[in-house]
Amino acid sequence: MKISFYRRHRAGSENKYLKDCLSGELDTDGFFMRRLLSHAATLYPGRSLLFTPSCTLALELSISCLNLRPGDEVILPSFNFPSAANAVLRGGGTPVLCDISPDTQNISVPDAARRITRRTKAVIAVHYAGIACPMEPLLKLAGEAGIALVEDAAQGASAFYRGTPLGALGDFGAVSYHHTKNITCGEGGLMVTGNREAYVEACQYRLHGTNRSQYINGEADRYTWNRPGLGAALSEPCAAILLAQMEEAQAITSRRVAVMGHYRELLEPLEKAGAFSLMQVPDYAEPNGHIFYLRTDTADRRERLQGYLLSRGIDCRTHYVPLHLSPMGRKLGYAPQDCPESLRCYGTLLRLPIHTGITDDDALWVAEKIGRFYKKG
Ligand SMILES: *Cc1c(COP(=O)(O)O)cnc(C)c1O
Repeated sequence: MKISFYRRHRAGSENKYLKDCLSGELDTDGFFMRRLLSHAATLYPGRSLLFTPSCTLALELSISCLNLRPGDEVILPSFNFPSAANAVLRGGGTPVLCDISPDTQNISVPDAARRITRRTKAVIAVHYAGIACPMEPLLKLAGEAGIALVEDAAQGASAFYRGTPLGALGDFGAVSYHHTKNITCGEGGLMVTGNREAYVEACQYRLHGTNRSQYINGEADRYTWNRPGLGAALSEPCAAILLAQMEEAQAITSRRVAVMGHYRELLEPLEKAGAFSLMQVPDYAEPNGHIFYLRTDTADRRERLQGYLLSRGIDCRTHYVPLHLSPMGRKLGYAPQDCPESLRCYGTLLRLPIHTGITDDDALWVAEKIGRFYKKG
């Protein structure tokens, strides 16, 4: 038996929407983008939304709104994908890496607080595994320091913090629809903001630094180059696929959350016996089943467990090389012990296969193999 790590969910309306889309002109922010926006508006009430070709670009749009100047700092966790740090560099600022907390692998609020200086302009919180960060302490921290809070909600589609969707609590949020994420159109992203002025700026940044979106909406009879910008609109075929996926979001999420529940139930006895620790879900977080992971006691055990499962056809994976440990992090002046928890997590975290194609039998099979590994020691 082979169990794949990822498998994209096939939404029922994808083919039909794509066919309808291909009979049209594929014009930027056309028919399917309008449908997608009105669907998404119900998910993020009161927020302005911009779909982009990636979460990376949604982060870049968000950071561009901060108008960073050389030497301005933005704090973000080291245990992360490079997108947020790249967005800060591309926005003209300096990324400042902080550590994570070992229960959720999310940003450590005390460690972020320690790294605030007079040059700090924002903090970027990553909702790792689709588990919400402690948003109240983070909002308090940002409010008291007078800095922006950006949510890297790349993994957070259909996950919530006390009932609010991830991405909709900070000044900016960015969601990913990459093929490895729960809801996908291959490559796609979304910028979420409650700041109307920033939204207008981001609209221009997204369309070549022009007011072309006003032109498309019939609010201007021509458009001009007003500021620096990019071409960062999500294409119509992607919008068509994403609409089909979003319409099925509830079914996708509930299946993934069920798989998570099975893993937890099956593996809890081993956890209680001290074999490893399972991913924790704080009471304020409503997860989306994006990732299910365990953390072993040592990096060596994680490596042996991973090898054991891989040799039995179960695709399981570690995660990020912490940014502070990477060649680029070294160039920015970091040393391995600067973020010790990120370093431990790098060695000991193992992600199990999770997607809508995982059956109850698959979950049982994976859990049995893990049990067997620990039995033989
Ligand atoms: C996937 C991911 C990204 C990148 O998303 P893209 O849509 O591929 O740009 C950024 N940050 C985190 C935490 C991610 O998981």
